[in-house]
Amino acid sequence: MRWRPGLTVYWRAPGESQVGIEGAHILTGLSPGEQELLDLLAAGATEPLEVVAARRGWTGRQVAALVTRLPPWALIEDGVPVVASPPAAAWSRWEAAGVERPRDRAGVCLQVDGLDALGLRIACLLAEGGIGRLVLADEEPVRPGDVRPGGYRSSEVGGPRAPAALALLRRLFPHLPLASADAAGTPCGDEGAADLVVMIDHGVSDPLRYRRYLHTDLPHLAVVVRELDVCVGPLVRPGHGPCLRCIELTRTDADDRWPVLATQLRGSGSPVPLESASAALAAALAAHQALAFADARPVALSATSYLVDAIHPVPRFRTWPVHPACGCAPESLDSGAQRAGHRGG
Ligand SMILES: [Zn+2]
Repeated sequence: MRWRPGLTVYWRAPGESQVGIEGAHILTGLSPGEQELLDLLAAGATEPLEVVAARRGWTGRQVAALVTRLPPWALIEDGVPVVASPPAAAWSRWEAAGVERPRDRAGVCLQVDGLDALGLRIACLLAEGGIGRLVLADEEPVRPGDVRPGGYRSSEVGGPRAPAALALLRRLFPHLPLASADAAGTPCGDEGAADLVVMIDHGVSDPLRYRRYLHTDLPHLAVVVRELDVCVGPLVRPGHGPCLRCIELTRTDADDRWPVLATQLRGSGSPVPLESASAALAAALAAHQALAFADARPVALSATSYLVDAIHPVPRFRTWPVHPACGCAPESLDSGAQRAGHRGG
């Protein structure tokens, strides 16, 4: 057995050590040698506990006696691969706290559709999170407002966003498989569709794109930059909860001129520059939820939008119903199929 990577041991008093802080386990009556061995293990030993202990003259019986006093989550089996990446090490610590280890992200493909400064920021966070493949889609040129430290360079303004974003990500994450997408948002190459698309829009979500994802059963997370905030969510799983058309219909219920305004927002063509800290917060929130989806963990943005702005440190949120006129819910699809069946009959 080996010490769980990232799990810390704290000295409390002679003969007394503490494993972890949250959910701490306190060991008392330890000998100086036992405290020393625990410190050594927690300092980053990757060899089996028995090997580390034997090197310090411990017998197998002494090791077994110490193991019985340790919390079971402090040790991992020898067959478990050593977790090297920061996200994997973080999840190892959560596992020690009783949270089930999530699905391996390395088998998941995510797509970022819309590569302005915010979209590129989200793409970098997803790549850093250790996903298996990343698809980047955008037909627009780099604008002056897209330039920021760590993002697009001023020399790239006017050139296409997708190749510039791909070049940056290849420099930062040389081992991550990357692909571009065609104008319809379909990944180029033979690897197939992404598991989730993060859609970045300004003003309102692009109905052509979200309807395409809805009709192909492709989950998508809406991120919309608006005048005063960034609206992150909902994360739409087609057939489960409200879709983005449900939201438009709900908005129209509240203001029957909303479709007229939405059309103008889509055609405005002038992206809103974002306040820097709230842009980072919005990017982190979108990446957090996309990675939760990748991990098959619960997602907070189903039927919910979080509104990130420069004033509130904690995002406000709004929940959305399935709109009865949309027809995207399974029961609507079922009744629609039955109606079609009646007509056919
Ligand atoms: Zn709907």
